[in-house]
Amino acid sequence: MKLLLFGANGQLGWELRRSLAPLGEVVAVGHGVGPACVDFMQPETLAECVRAIRPDGVVNAAAYTAVDRAQAQPDAAYVVNAVAPEALARACGAIGAWFVHYSTDYVFDGSGERPWRESDEPTPINEYGRTKLAGERAIAAVLPGHLIFRTSWVYASRGHNFAKSMLRLASERTLLQVVSDQWGAPTGADFLADVSAHAISSWCAGRSAPGLYHLTARGETTWHAYARLVLARASERGRVLTVPADALAAVPTAEYPTPAPRPLNSRLDCSKFDAEFGLHRPHWSAGVERMLEEHLNP
Ligand code: NDP
Repeated sequence: MKLLLFGANGQLGWELRRSLAPLGEVVAVGHGVGPACVDFMQPETLAECVRAIRPDGVVNAAAYTAVDRAQAQPDAAYVVNAVAPEALARACGAIGAWFVHYSTDYVFDGSGERPWRESDEPTPINEYGRTKLAGERAIAAVLPGHLIFRTSWVYASRGHNFAKSMLRLASERTLLQVVSDQWGAPTGADFLADVSAHAISSWCAGRSAPGLYHLTARGETTWHAYARLVLARASERGRVLTVPADALAAVPTAEYPTPAPRPLNSRLDCSKFDAEFGLHRPHWSAGVERMLEEHLNP
């Protein structure tokens, strides 16, 4: 099998390079100019790339993920998150390839406390969410052979992440405030990539159906509780913090304004995924603990 992977240097794309490798030859494409790069801001160039490589399947981990910047640049976010994925889906259709894509909890408005199901009507409250929803809908309209995974609060060991920012800030500041009324599941890029590979395998073998699935780690938390766990583990390992875990201040979202509004309820109900693919989703804290072990004991 030959796979074409876009967004190969992002959090998820980097992990997909590893997890997709046992399925076949992976052609990894990054962002920019050069032989192994594309620019989703030029979606008209993508079909030629797909035609030239002629993969059995395309996995798209590229996206305009700067949520606050998207608020000021909705047109650019729309091209990258909706127009380009649609172009890829059409190109897949033209050569009989399948397509795997990722979307977000931010397609929902965050109301209520019940975890969102795939059948719930999305009503995004920021431009990023609107453009990601437009991408989902465009793919579904042009290519039945797709898997779209809506996930949430993605982190990776490589590069910057929320946990590393908390550790840095808690060593520099004397007061640290974190929002405590946004609920979701931190989901490791490594887990997402591994599960994607299993799901693709199952789908290609005819054991599972294509379509839209919610896919996150198990359980739920708030950014504040997540940060507390990070700081507690750091202290246990001898890190000296100016803001220890129990001094971390909890603030409501209303007191922490950002250019793009954030949904309060980002819980995703993953029971459709569980029933279809029969895989185990570990609790969110297991992945975070593992990432911390790697970071705190290099
Ligand atoms: P990252 O931001 O880590 O990676 C996105 C990748 O897309 C980067 O490699 C980036 O390249 C590339 N990219 C951005 N603009 C372009 C462009 N114009 N042309 C080509 N490539 C481009 O994102 P994640 O790995 O975290 O996200 C993976 C998927 O998961 C995305 O679909 C995202 O919407 C979704 N998701 C992410 C969440 C999160 O918390 N991060 C939460 C929910 C869903 P470069 O860095 O060079 O610009």
